[in-house]
Amino acid sequence: MAYKITDDCISCGACESECKNEAISEGEAAYVIDADKCTECVGWFESARCAEVCPVGAPVQDPDNSESKEQLLEKFKKLHPGETPVEGTY
Ligand code: SF4
Ligand code: SF4
Repeated sequence: MAYKITDDCISCGACESECKNEAISEGEAAYVIDADKCTECVGWFESARCAEVCPVGAPVQDPDNSESKEQLLEKFKKLHPGETPVEGTY
């Protein structure tokens, strides 16, 4: 399940550099997550970095973008060919 950023976002920018998939960018009203690039941090971290660093809890799981761990791992492999996913993250 990809993450999305809710209207609670105060556009502090803290999450952008934390995303190893470069899925986060500044939108018009708030920061946004590209669901095609979000792996829920599968392959990198055990939990979602954007949600961890956000001071207002704006990044949340998006039920409209539901994916299994296997699908998220496949997405990681497509985004990072040749990169070995970190054990324990998938
Ligand atoms: S959950 Fe991870 S991969 Fe997805 S947007 Fe947040 S930091 Fe990036
Ligand atoms: S860390 Fe939270 S408040 Fe800051 S830009 Fe990201 S989602 Fe918005």
